[in-house]
Amino acid sequence: MLAPAINIVIPLYNEEEVFEQLIARLTALIDSFPKSIEVILVDDGSLDKTPKLITELALRDQRFQAIILSRNFGHQIALSAGLEEVNASEGVMVIDGDLQDPPELLSQFYSEFKNGYDVIYGVRSIRRDEGLFKKKTSFYFYRVLRKLTNIDIPMDSGDFCFMSSRVVKVLSSMPEERRFIRGMRAWVGFNQTSVSYNRDERHAGSTKYSIGKMLKLAFDAIYGFSDIPIKLMTRLGLATIIFSFAYLIYSLLKKLFFGGVASGFSGLLFSMILLSGVQLFSLGILGEYIVRTFFQTKLRPLFIVKETIKNKTKLE
Ligand code: UDP
Ligand code: MG
Repeated sequence: MLAPAINIVIPLYNEEEVFEQLIARLTALIDSFPKSIEVILVDDGSLDKTPKLITELALRDQRFQAIILSRNFGHQIALSAGLEEVNASEGVMVIDGDLQDPPELLSQFYSEFKNGYDVIYGVRSIRRDEGLFKKKTSFYFYRVLRKLTNIDIPMDSGDFCFMSSRVVKVLSSMPEERRFIRGMRAWVGFNQTSVSYNRDERHAGSTKYSIGKMLKLAFDAIYGFSDIPIKLMTRLGLATIIFSFAYLIYSLLKKLFFGGVASGFSGLLFSMILLSGVQLFSLGILGEYIVRTFFQTKLRPLFIVKETIKNKTKLE
C-alpha cells in the first residue's frame, strides 16, 4: 500500500468493549474522508481480547495496522510506539480508543492543517465525561503545571490532536524515557492552534488510568519540564539564612535593652536556624547541577529547524 495521506494512532489497553463501535466509527470516517487514511492500532499489553481483535482486523483490512507491545508500558509509551510507525505524507491524528474524543473532528483538524498549522490540539469545552474528582484534579493540574513550566502547555488539552508528519518526526527523535507527549508537543514549537470540542463519556468499559498512573503522568510532566521545585529549595534556604540573622539581631537588641533572656538559648537557636538554611541552600545548589545533568541526559535536540531557504529554494 502506498503511504497514506493521514495516519490515525490509537493506543488501546483492555478496550475489547469499545472495539466494535470504535472500528465502525473509524471505518465510516475513512470511507467518507477525501484523503487516504491508515489507522495504527497499538495494543499496550492488554489482558483481554484486544490484541486478538486488532490482529484479525489488520489481517483482514489493509487500512488498519496492528502493533502489539510485549507488556503494558503505559499510554504515553504506547502512543510513542504508534508514532514511530507513522509514514503518512501529511499528518497524524492521535486519539484515545474509548471514543471520548470524536474521530469525526478530523475534518476540522485537517482544515486547520491546510491553513498552515503543524499542531492542532483539541481543547475540551464541555466535559460530559468522568466524575467531579477527575475534572477538578485535571483542572488544577493544568493550572499548576502552567505556573511551574517555562513552556506554554495549553490548558485543558489532552493528547487528542493532529500533528504534521514533520512534527511527529521530531517527537520520535526525542529519546527521553519519561514521556509527557502534551508537553513535548508544546515544546517542539511550529505553528500551533486549537479546536474546541465537547468531550463525551467513555463509550464502554472503565477508565484505564488508575490514580497511580495519573500521578505518574503528573510528576513526569512537572519534573520533565520544570526546574522550579529545585529553585524553590534554594530560595527557601536563602530565606531561612536571612531569617536566622534577623533573629540574631533581634535577640541581641532584646538582650541589650531588656535583658532577661536565658544565656545560650538565642545563640543555639540562631545556629540551628542558620545551619538548616545553609543545608537547604546547599542542597538547592547541588540540585541545580543535577537538574542540568538531568536535562542533558534527556538528549532532546538542541533546536528544531522549521524550514531552510537556500539558493532561492525552500526546503522543509
Ligand atoms: N491506555 C493505554 N495504556 C494504559 C492506559 C490507557 O494504552 O496503560 C489507553 C486506553 O486504552 C485509552 C487511552 O489510553 O485508549 C486513554 O485511557 P483512558 O480513556 O482510560 O483514560 P481517561 O480518559 O480515563 O483519562
Ligand atoms: Mg478516556
